[in-house]
Amino acid sequence: MEKIYKNPDENGYYGEFGGAFVPEMLYPNIQELQNKYLSILNDTEFRKTFEELLKYYVGRDTPLYFASSLSARYGCKVYLKREDLNHTGAHKINNALGQALLAKRLGKKRIIAETGAGQHGVATATACALLGLDCTVYMGAVDIERQQPNVGRMQMLGAQVIAVESGSKTLKDAVNEALRDWISRPTDTHYIIGSVVGPHPFPDIVTRLQSVISEEIKQQVLEKTGALPAAVIACVGGGSNAAGAFYHFIEDPQVQLIAVEAAGQGIESGKSAATTALGTPGILHGSKSIVMQDLHGQVIEPHSISAGLDYPGIGPMHAHLFATKRAQYIAVTDQQAVEAAFSLTQEEGIIPALESAHALAALDQLQFCSEDVVVVCLSGRGDKDMETYLSYFNNKH
Ligand SMILES: *Cc1c(COP(=O)(O)O)cnc(C)c1O
Repeated sequence: MEKIYKNPDENGYYGEFGGAFVPEMLYPNIQELQNKYLSILNDTEFRKTFEELLKYYVGRDTPLYFASSLSARYGCKVYLKREDLNHTGAHKINNALGQALLAKRLGKKRIIAETGAGQHGVATATACALLGLDCTVYMGAVDIERQQPNVGRMQMLGAQVIAVESGSKTLKDAVNEALRDWISRPTDTHYIIGSVVGPHPFPDIVTRLQSVISEEIKQQVLEKTGALPAAVIACVGGGSNAAGAFYHFIEDPQVQLIAVEAAGQGIESGKSAATTALGTPGILHGSKSIVMQDLHGQVIEPHSISAGLDYPGIGPMHAHLFATKRAQYIAVTDQQAVEAAFSLTQEEGIIPALESAHALAALDQLQFCSEDVVVVCLSGRGDKDMETYLSYFNNKH
C-alpha cells in the first residue's frame, strides 16, 4: 500500500500535494515561519499556555455526546463531538488562539486574517482582543453585506474590517488581499490563515492546532466503549475541522475516515463545491492540491448554502488522503444538509451550523452495523444560520 502521511516532509509535501508556491516577496515571511514553527509548537511553555487557554477560556474538552435518537434512526451508535460548545461557537477558535500565541512568540504585534462568513474573523478578533494584538480582517464586500452580525462582532472586539472590492468580492479575493498586506509588512505582521490551506507550513500548523479534536475523541471513545470508533465523519470546506478530527486516527486503518463536501444544488448542477468530485490537481493559494478549475486553470466559482464550505479547493493533506483512498470523500446537497439540521434540532435539541449539518446528512448515505461506533464532528452551532433555516422552514409550511 502507498505510504500515508499525516505530517508533511520538510518541503511541505504530503506525497505529491502541498509545497509553498508564493511570490518571491513572501519568501522571508514564509521562511521565518518554516524555520521556527515546529520548535515553538512543541515547546513546553507554549503547550502549557495553549492548553490552559483551551481549557479555561475555550471550554475544552468538548463533550463526546451519545445521540440516542440519531443512533436509533441509523441503527448504529452515533456520538457527536461537540465543537459547537466552544467559545465563539465553532472549532475555529482552536486555530486562532494557537496562531495568535505563535505570533507573539515570533515577536509580531499585528495580525491579519481573511474571512468568508466571518467565523474565522470573529475567532481571530477574539484571540487578538484577549492577547493584546492589533487585528485587521479582510472580507469581500459581498460577504460584508451578507454577514452583518459577524462584522459587528469583529468591530466590537476591536478589529478593523477591510472591505475587498476586487474579483467576485468574496473569500478567495479576501485571501489575495491579505497576502498582499503581508508582503507589504513582513516584519511586524503574522497572517492567521483560517483553514488547512495555503503555503507550507500553514496546513501543518493548522492541522496540529486542530488535532486536539481527535486527541480528545480517541480518549473519550476509548473511555466510553473500550475500543476505537468504526468511523469518524467531518465536513470539509478547506478541511480544518476534518483534519483535526482525523489526525490521531490516520494511522489506525480500522477507523474509517469520511470527509463530506458540499454538493450545493447537485454535483453536476454547476452550483457545487464538491472539490474532489469536480476538481483536478492544481495550485491554489500557495499549495498544490485538488482545485475546481477550468481547462485554462481558471478557478471555478463554488457554491454552497453554507459559507464555510463555499471554497473551490481543499487542503493538501486532504488531497493526499483522497488520492491514497485513506479517507472517503462524499458530497451532500444544500437541501440534504438543511433537512439533517432540522432532524438534529427536533430529535436531539441541538441546532447545528449548516456546515456541520453536511456531516450529519452523510449518515443517510452510509451503512453501519448496530455495534459500530460512529463519531460525527459537530464543527459549530447554528446561530449564524438562523435566517437560512427560517426561510427554508417558512417556504415549506
Ligand atoms: C469555517 C467552518 C467550517 C469549514 O472549515 P473547515 O476548515 O473545513 O473546517 C466548518 N464548520 C464550521 C462551523 C465553520 O465555521
